[in-house]
Amino acid sequence: MGHTYWKQKTLIAFAAFTGLTGCLAEEKTFGYAAGYVRSYPAPIVLDMPANAPSITQQFRGTLEVSTLEGIDEHFGIDVHAPIGTPVIAAAGGVVERSFWGPAYGNQVQIRHAPDASGKSSRTRYVHLHKRLVAQGDVLERGEQLGELGVTGFLSSGFPHLHFELIYQGTALGTSSADPHRFWAQGRGKITCMGPEWADISPETFKLTYPVPCK
Ligand SMILES: [Zn+2]
Repeated sequence: MGHTYWKQKTLIAFAAFTGLTGCLAEEKTFGYAAGYVRSYPAPIVLDMPANAPSITQQFRGTLEVSTLEGIDEHFGIDVHAPIGTPVIAAAGGVVERSFWGPAYGNQVQIRHAPDASGKSSRTRYVHLHKRLVAQGDVLERGEQLGELGVTGFLSSGFPHLHFELIYQGTALGTSSADPHRFWAQGRGKITCMGPEWADISPETFKLTYPVPCK
């Protein structure tokens, strides 16, 4: 089992990133959110906290739009941070899968409590350095489930968390959705985990950031 990371007063020492992508300036390790690809038809205006680890790639999927002609799909958001950074549950739930595969490396999937309409959503945490939970574990929002890493060939050698939301609350049925629609503070308002979010009702599905903010 993991532990509830935000409850700890320990300062997280973030090592300066010295990886393969020299284009990501050190001052952009926090507080930077990449733009949506220009041709993506459903971009969301983002409010990125200055203390949140940066987002290097946005969602481009088909939930909000019927076709994405000419766009290379990406069913989640990528959060950049050093290998070993804690990865925390974006909402409470039960670990449905915890396994390794060649493309996505170490991955964990959480099934979240049903909302008022009885529909459960799931979140996936991909390319983990380490998995710290097993199938059947019950996690609170903010509890650590693994460490950010660079496993799986789709990580392209770039340390990041691929964070994906599989949302069931639409007429299209189960589909990957843009996580920016569901932050606890509102659409586009990326919400760092903190004690004020621990007990929010699952009546409407809400997310907090899947890595701790500094
Ligand atoms: Zn990704």
